[in-house]
Amino acid sequence: MAAMQETDVIILGTGAAGMAAALAAHETGAEVLLVEQHDRIGGTSAISGGVIWVADNPRMRAAGMDDTPEDALAYFRSLDHGDLVDETLEAFVDRGPEALAFLESIDALKVAVLPGYPDYYLDRPGAKPEGSRALDHDLFALAELGDWAAKIYAIEEPKPLMLRETPLGGAASLPPPHVLGQRMELRQCGFGQAMVARLLKACLTRGIEPMLGVTTKRLLREGARITGIEAERGSQPLTLHARRGVVIATGGFEWDAELRQTFLRGPVTAPASPPTASGGGLKLAMQAGAKLGNMTSAWWAPTLVTPDAPWASGEQRAQIILIERTVPHSIMVNRSGQRFCNEAANYSALGGVFHQFDPASYDYRNLPAYLIFDAQYAARYPLGTRQPGQPIPDWVMRADTLEGLAQQIGLEGAVLAETVARFNSHADAGHDPDFGRGTSAYDHFYGDRSREGTAVTLGTIREAPFYAVEIHSGLLGTNGGPRTDGRARILDHDGAVIPGLLGAGNAIACPTGGIYAGAGGTLGPALTFGYIAGRTAARANASS
Ligand SMILES: Cc1cc2nc3c(=O)[nH]c(=O)nc-3n(C[C@H](O)[C@H](O)[C@H](O)COP(=O)(O)OP(=O)(O)OC[C@H]3O[C@@H](n4cnc5c(N)ncnc54)[C@H](O)[C@@H]3O)c2cc1C
Repeated sequence: MAAMQETDVIILGTGAAGMAAALAAHETGAEVLLVEQHDRIGGTSAISGGVIWVADNPRMRAAGMDDTPEDALAYFRSLDHGDLVDETLEAFVDRGPEALAFLESIDALKVAVLPGYPDYYLDRPGAKPEGSRALDHDLFALAELGDWAAKIYAIEEPKPLMLRETPLGGAASLPPPHVLGQRMELRQCGFGQAMVARLLKACLTRGIEPMLGVTTKRLLREGARITGIEAERGSQPLTLHARRGVVIATGGFEWDAELRQTFLRGPVTAPASPPTASGGGLKLAMQAGAKLGNMTSAWWAPTLVTPDAPWASGEQRAQIILIERTVPHSIMVNRSGQRFCNEAANYSALGGVFHQFDPASYDYRNLPAYLIFDAQYAARYPLGTRQPGQPIPDWVMRADTLEGLAQQIGLEGAVLAETVARFNSHADAGHDPDFGRGTSAYDHFYGDRSREGTAVTLGTIREAPFYAVEIHSGLLGTNGGPRTDGRARILDHDGAVIPGLLGAGNAIACPTGGIYAGAGGTLGPALTFGYIAGRTAARANASS
């Protein structure tokens, strides 16, 4: 006999989108069941930087900073390649500030402006070179969650600092070790951990306890309306009925090899997200006959596989590469030993360069790709989790000459030496005529700010030993899925609302298309559409 339960709104997924939906539905008067497939809470949101991008947000307003929805819309539209849908884009821009204000008002978020963090496309109308649309989290003390703290995804790797205190967030250096030590004792965390922990605390305070380890098999339907889910918990069947709606907030599909191969526009060999992004929500939406959008796109990012530190569940783990390709004394080269881009460009836009197809060789021109660096780099800068001055891990290739390094990669020695010599001449001149590295303010953000001008990112590769490590075509999450209207209701093939089915976060066709507006460009839409979905679902009746 299947266990059975009835509620107003079922939310699938405990990431940022799912918990925002649960809180908004509850505050709108609905009884809520928050259902999670994994035995941990938070998915990709929990391991993320946690930065939230919302134009004209409440923190900006409080600080007297100027922004308008018109500027934000002009910015997005200038970047559109046909993916944007006015209704959902405008819903995000118009209601993002309201969603944040709501979540802050119930202590589900505590955020501050990330000083100086620029939007990603500074040449576009409406961009903010001085930042302020990107928000960072205050520290959260995990003790406030009691036993629930241990249920947050990857919480055994605590991050006892705020992004704005790190070079990634624009600070000159990390807080001193004794400060970090004190915070570890107090179990204080920042980044996505603080975001997920605060959202979870707000849920628990309202009696919304996530139901973990539930695998949804199919959606229940009465006539056209979605009325619940048929699932399994352990090996026990479970039927959950929803009087008002089911919200799909299950994250992306990048860990399902078949979905990835079917939909994404090019190879992805190492996602930076955890294996929880397994595409279950996409399959449910397809079963329900949803219209799909953005399916070829993702939040692209170059990544580095760390073979000595897989996910706890055993899968290959990869890290996003930001600082490593931006600071001086490093370049990226492709399978031919040539540079192929401005290495310091924003990570999401860079994704495109890994998917360039060469008709002559009938292969991807820039894959595999390698980060090449030297002893000057090794002495000063990090590599993944390895800090400056620590030994370079064994899985990084090294040689005393560039020719020797090229041989290890399988390249002709002379080609790599020529590429490096050309780059060195540009670095010496402080000008990169090949790719313009160092000309945009964005290129400087992750560079070495102890240096001046273009030298923040340009520096020679001259001192042995020389190193090479493969850089993967990766991503932070997919951003395609069922299309919704501006009220987060999922649409069918013909564009009509599927009654009782809603969606938010990486599980849906993102309201900003594939445009990564600035730091926080995925969590801003995820939280906003989670909020909208929760409110819409809570207000639904049998005919809507
Ligand atoms: C290293 C890293 C850093 C990042 N930093 C940032 C950042 O600073 N700012 C930013 O905007 N973006 C960032 N991102 C991207 C961002 O984290 C994601 O886009 C975002 O967290 C997606 O949120 P979500 O709620 O849609 O999905 P998730 O957070 O992935 O949550 C989905 C949840 O649904 C669960 N689930 C899956 N299938 C089912 C099912 N069938 N039933 C029930 N539950 C299910 C999953 O287990 C998971 O818990 C980063 C990503 C990475 C990898």
